Amino acid sequence: MRPFSYTRAQTVQAAVQALASDPQAVLLAGGTNLIDLMKYEVERPGAIIDINRLPLNFIDDLPDGGIRIGALVTNSSVAHDERVRTRYPLLASAILAGASPQLRNAATTGGNLVQRTRCYYFYDPATPCNKRQPGSGCAAIGGVNRIHAILGASDSCIAVHPSDMCVALAALGATIEVEGPAGRRDIAFSDFHRLPGDRPELDNTLQSGELVVAIRLEPNHFAVHHTYLKLRDRLSYAFALVSVAVAVELSNDRLVDVRVALGGVAHKPWRDRLVEAEFAGVVADEEAFQKLAERLLSGAKGHGGNHFKIPLAAKAIVRALKQATSGRLQDQAAKSVQ
Ligand SMILES: Cc1cc2nc3c(=O)[nH]c(=O)nc-3n(C[C@H](O)[C@H](O)[C@H](O)COP(=O)(O)OP(=O)(O)OC[C@H]3O[C@@H](n4cnc5c(N)ncnc54)[C@H](O)[C@@H]3O)c2cc1C
Ligand code: SF4
Repeated sequence: MRPFSYTRAQTVQAAVQALASDPQAVLLAGGTNLIDLMKYEVERPGAIIDINRLPLNFIDDLPDGGIRIGALVTNSSVAHDERVRTRYPLLASAILAGASPQLRNAATTGGNLVQRTRCYYFYDPATPCNKRQPGSGCAAIGGVNRIHAILGASDSCIAVHPSDMCVALAALGATIEVEGPAGRRDIAFSDFHRLPGDRPELDNTLQSGELVVAIRLEPNHFAVHHTYLKLRDRLSYAFALVSVAVAVELSNDRLVDVRVALGGVAHKPWRDRLVEAEFAGVVADEEAFQKLAERLLSGAKGHGGNHFKIPLAAKAIVRALKQATSGRLQDQAAKSVQ
């Protein structure tokens, strides 16, 4: 690890100012990703701004029936909050599918949003990686790419976003509140994470000096018909090869509103609202689910080691839609797919 300065910010404005005034500065929340990256010398910050004392550890009800979750609320606290469990059970379930209880006790909402990819080459400074060192190449293209993207990748980077929480937030259509030198602004969840294009070093659309303050969720009708299905190499303590967050509103046997977000397949949680809209009013049966999966994956492309993800994702989408529409949810403690 290299030497760095350490500051504990007492106000959001002070954190913004410290971040904006030093291009070498980074924010420290739970530290479960940042400290690993520093140990591997992938991140070499000159200054650490510890934000753990900021007043961002709250879960508030909103007047419209929605909820606002501060950036410093731990993943465990979100998943076990009674309001989240009853009104946004998809979010609670996705969080509980991730990491381990110890990690979830330390990891924060803001840190989970901004965590970096788990591409093996990104963590190995001896290999070329456009995300870690722009212009150096991509060792995963033509290399070992079993865990990599099948949708939205580019010739510069085929990494995936590793979060479970974010896949549920994509399906629920969250809003992210950020504060920066120009003040506060909202970012729609679908605009927060980026596809790699020719700038894979940028994971998200935060501007210089901006930090995440909170996420907001609107009231919804998805408390009954939802599921988070995560397929991985081990049943715990492993990132998703493919995950699916489904939220459905049903009227009799027809889909009124169907949302399907995919994790482990792209540089951002993957959702296609145009495809979802095609299925509004359609009878919720296996034939429709298979068509929806085909449409969502129509642009999917493998890179050698990860071709298997295309049929795996298709089956996972159909299975998740069956679970959600039948109200038979995936139990995150279960040792098998339900
Ligand atoms: C062994 C292991 C297994 C894991 N398994 C999973 C898994 O299965 N599923 C899953 O989803 N995750 C998994 N994780 C990742 C874990 O969820 C993240 O490390 C965690 O959510 C990051 O949160 P943090 O508060 O510790 O962030 P930190 O490590 O403190 O920060 C991470 C990044 O976010 C930035 N940041 C932090 N807060 C803010 C903010 N408010 N605004 C702007 N930027 C901010 C930091 O500067 C840093 O760049 C795993 C991690 C480990 C170590
Ligand atoms: S896939 Fe992206 S993160 Fe992985 S080596 Fe290539 S450029 Fe780096």
